[in-house]
Amino acid sequence: MSPEPLPFAPDSDLVSLLAPSPNHGERKSAIDMLVLHYTGMESAEAAIDLLRAPTAEVSCHYVVLEDGSIIQMVPEARRAWHAGVSSWEGKDDINSRSIGIEIVNPGHELGYPDFPERQLRSVAALCQDLIARHAIRADRVLAHSDVAPGRKQDPGEKFPWEFLHHAGVGHHVHEAPKGGGRFLMMGDSGQPIAALQAMLALYGYGLAVTGVYDAATQDVVTAFQRHFRRSQVDGVADGSTILTLRNLIGARPQDGDAPDHDHDGHGHGHGGCAHG
Ligand SMILES: [Zn+2]
Repeated sequence: MSPEPLPFAPDSDLVSLLAPSPNHGERKSAIDMLVLHYTGMESAEAAIDLLRAPTAEVSCHYVVLEDGSIIQMVPEARRAWHAGVSSWEGKDDINSRSIGIEIVNPGHELGYPDFPERQLRSVAALCQDLIARHAIRADRVLAHSDVAPGRKQDPGEKFPWEFLHHAGVGHHVHEAPKGGGRFLMMGDSGQPIAALQAMLALYGYGLAVTGVYDAATQDVVTAFQRHFRRSQVDGVADGSTILTLRNLIGARPQDGDAPDHDHDGHGHGHGGCAHG
């Protein structure tokens, strides 16, 4: 019989239930990132069972149910095992520096329903709380697919990042309009591909600048679209994708900015959209 994990005090006032998981370890760096996931399973119960199973060796800090309830599984001070093989801004131990939030949704393989608004409101409130307590920069609120583009697609293109942005959470610019013009895609090569790869890597994606639009490039463009150009996710870098990326880089918060600089002082609601 394996010993029960010790219960712990919830880190956030928003937590309504603890479901302690034994799957965690010591952090090797300070918290400076939030990683959002969907559970990708038939039910919340099945997901929580998995996230507590010692043999599964996966976990997260928080689970947000469809009804908006928030469950904590791992203390924030501990390193949960949610991101797997991943990278951002050239660093690869994402679990050590992040808090992992699982949003209950069966995911692409199981019908991928819309995220209910009450669930989104809870995700936004939890993120606000975490950002305030850990001084997390807006552009470090990321999707699992951003940090593991070759393996993961969660929380996916139905997750409305602009909803979070309107609540002062995350980095966002409006999608640049789609139109004609040239586009870059799988099989292309040359300087424009190298420039695209360099911009994606500059924003944080783990991508080598090779000048060849290979499968890794297509995966990263797809991940970028799932987060920032959700209206069309096809792995093709059209003008809208490239301009959205350019605008995002231009509007990026700088180190030393207050984490809530974007919306603070603009009143409630849509502050932070001024960039575009
Ligand atoms: Zn995930």
